[in-house]
Amino acid sequence: MEILRLEAIHRTYRQGEAALDVLRGAEFALMPGEAVALVAPSGAGKSTLLHIAGLLERPDAGEVIVAGRGTSTLSDTERTRLRRDEIGFVYQFHHLLSEFSAVENVMLPQLIAGLDKSEAKKRAEQLLTWLGLPDRGTHRPTELSGGEQQRVAIARAVANAPRILFADEPTGNLDIVTSEQVFEALFKLIKATGLAALVATHNLELAAQMDRRITLRDGMIVEV
Ligand code: ADP
Ligand code: ADP
Repeated sequence: MEILRLEAIHRTYRQGEAALDVLRGAEFALMPGEAVALVAPSGAGKSTLLHIAGLLERPDAGEVIVAGRGTSTLSDTERTRLRRDEIGFVYQFHHLLSEFSAVENVMLPQLIAGLDKSEAKKRAEQLLTWLGLPDRGTHRPTELSGGEQQRVAIARAVANAPRILFADEPTGNLDIVTSEQVFEALFKLIKATGLAALVATHNLELAAQMDRRITLRDGMIVEV
């Protein structure tokens, strides 16, 4: 069964006198273990879609179903809890905390979720090793290359074992070779864990390597 389903999602922004219908009945389903690329021009509504699907924002109409649960009737607290349990985010810029090491950055969401320190540390180290950073755990973000920083950000995003990962231009700030390495690490993780990922990217070569590609056309999601 799908882990995420979007039904008839509408979102309109007010821009002074004008109204901009960014999403006009967008429909989408994501299966466990699937890596889907979202490729669309700037301004098409990719960030809006990811924020709505990731329960950071509410649509004006339509339903976001996460792990079989409708979310429109949930309170903000319930939505936050569901997001914390099931959803991870990666952005173009890593947003790691600069005063903490790589391991500590990956431990943090686990500690917030109530895991004990030694368990959180063990999992953080395992994840970093998995993502190809076995000997970078004690480094602070500024001591890591751009690609390494993004891999730490991915480890942090999946630290609490969410079932869905949203990534918004995760390699947008990286060179071609580094982008490949980060994507490879991400794919390996997806295929090993059954994680489902929706990745907004402008990189067509990387999009071509993913399981499916979608775009936004007139506020609707279409396969390409
Ligand atoms: P993308 O991520 O594909 O670049 P966005 O979802 O960020 O697209 O934005 C889609 C459109 O909606 C753009 O034209 C943008 O200017 C507009 N937009 C985004 N957020 C707001 C907002 N809070 N208020 C008004 N307009 C917005
Ligand atoms: P890239 O080749 O991706 O541009 P860098 O040249 O920034 O990467 O870094 C190369 C290696 O050196 C990386 O593995 C990184 O962990 C390490 N490194 C970079 N800056 C520092 C630093 N200030 N302190 C310790 N290690 C560093």
